[in-house]
Amino acid sequence: MRFLMLMLAMLLSSFVREEPAFPVFKVESNMDEGQYNNSQIHPMNNPVDRKKRMELIVKAFESVMNDKDFQKELLQQKFVYDVDDDPNKKLTTAEVAEKIYAAVESYTKEGYEPKVDNTANIYWDIKRRPHRPDGDHATLGYGFSGGYTIYTYSWYFRGKDIDERVGHLAHEWSHKLGFRHRSDFHKTRDETVPYAFGYLVRKHAKKYLPEE
Ligand SMILES: [Zn+2]
Repeated sequence: MRFLMLMLAMLLSSFVREEPAFPVFKVESNMDEGQYNNSQIHPMNNPVDRKKRMELIVKAFESVMNDKDFQKELLQQKFVYDVDDDPNKKLTTAEVAEKIYAAVESYTKEGYEPKVDNTANIYWDIKRRPHRPDGDHATLGYGFSGGYTIYTYSWYFRGKDIDERVGHLAHEWSHKLGFRHRSDFHKTRDETVPYAFGYLVRKHAKKYLPEE
């Protein structure tokens, strides 16, 4: 009897644990480590070190996307949409995850054909801005609607806690998939897809980064 119960429990748990399969995710990147060089001021102002750090961040992003624990938690997220006419509003969490993994970027670029390729195409450029501006919510970087490049300011890029930069990259890349949030700070902004996705990526990124 006990054995039967055990078998039943095992059968049930394998049934309940049936989760949507995530495709193997890849990240391809084209990185511009910046055009400036004044390595005397800060080690990260050296383009070689900057490039190494970019590569580390991009690799960690790819690893997190293929991490089973990350995937499980992604499916448990509840997302908030704070832009009124956001066409993503009706998506379920599973559909958001599916859209992220499909990785169809919506920018215009010569020779680029949007297609489901389970591959993040990252065009990343570090922009020189040596000092953090005043204020609580400093802008970390920027992007243009329909543009493919992710611009990150150097003062933020070189900061400690590389895992935070992995989350930043994930956040910015999610904009290329059409996920949005309001630019003003408000209570539930952290629950929009770009923020929640970025934070979750960051949470799992440490496993794939060397200790600082
Ligand atoms: Zn954003």
